[in-house]
Amino acid sequence: MRKKIVAGNWKMNCDLDEGQKLTSEIVNMLKDEKINDVNVVLNPPFPHLHLVNKLIQGVSRVFLGAQNCSDKNSGAYTGEISASMLKSFAASYVILGHSERREYFGETNALLTEKVKRALENGLKPIFCCGEPLEIRESGDHESYVTQQLTESLFGFSEEEIKNIVIAYEPIWAIGTGKTASSDQAQEMHASIRKHIASKFGREVAEGISILYGGSCKPDNAKEIFSKQDVDGGLIGGASLKSRDFVEIIKSF
Ligand code: 13P
Repeated sequence: MRKKIVAGNWKMNCDLDEGQKLTSEIVNMLKDEKINDVNVVLNPPFPHLHLVNKLIQGVSRVFLGAQNCSDKNSGAYTGEISASMLKSFAASYVILGHSERREYFGETNALLTEKVKRALENGLKPIFCCGEPLEIRESGDHESYVTQQLTESLFGFSEEEIKNIVIAYEPIWAIGTGKTASSDQAQEMHASIRKHIASKFGREVAEGISILYGGSCKPDNAKEIFSKQDVDGGLIGGASLKSRDFVEIIKSF
């Protein structure tokens, strides 16, 4: 059985007090709720990691993640954060290759291979993001665009390594726009991603990989999207900043 995961990507939001309040609210609600077999990952900005880790102690199924890491191990790289630092701050996951990183910080498929390597070497599970822009979706080439992202970044890894990677499909046209992919569009792409992984790593490996959907996922559409066979959860942006909405999404399974 594949792991079901709902991950919150706070992006560049929340000061110290806001981050503390948000985490405490989520933790308190989750303590009162019966969550069905879903792993929850909180991915705050780096300065929050230590405190968020303290606040989630003792809450089962809640894990810590970060939003990025360096492709380098350590040294004179001002402003960068290494995968080993994240591990030492108790992170279990790291989001890599988010479309905002690709677009605003020039991250390429080749660079992302290096980042994924550093994450895996340090025992972090990468949440590897892929997804097409609107013009590619409109041209009908979205499946080949996404499979190429996966091939170029991930197909050099071993079977054992790929098993530790979570994939997040985030159509760029659905991020922060309020325009979500339909559940059928999500299912079609997730099935295509799984088939592509199977073509390289075999069916059994592909069947075990969690593929999350991201892009305007909200309490009112999560249930429908998560009901699809190849959708194993969500990577949630805006709605992860509202404790009640985030917990509602977690309960959508
Ligand atoms: P929104 O949920 O705000 O559309 O963001 C999705 C996202 O980019 C998560 O990584």
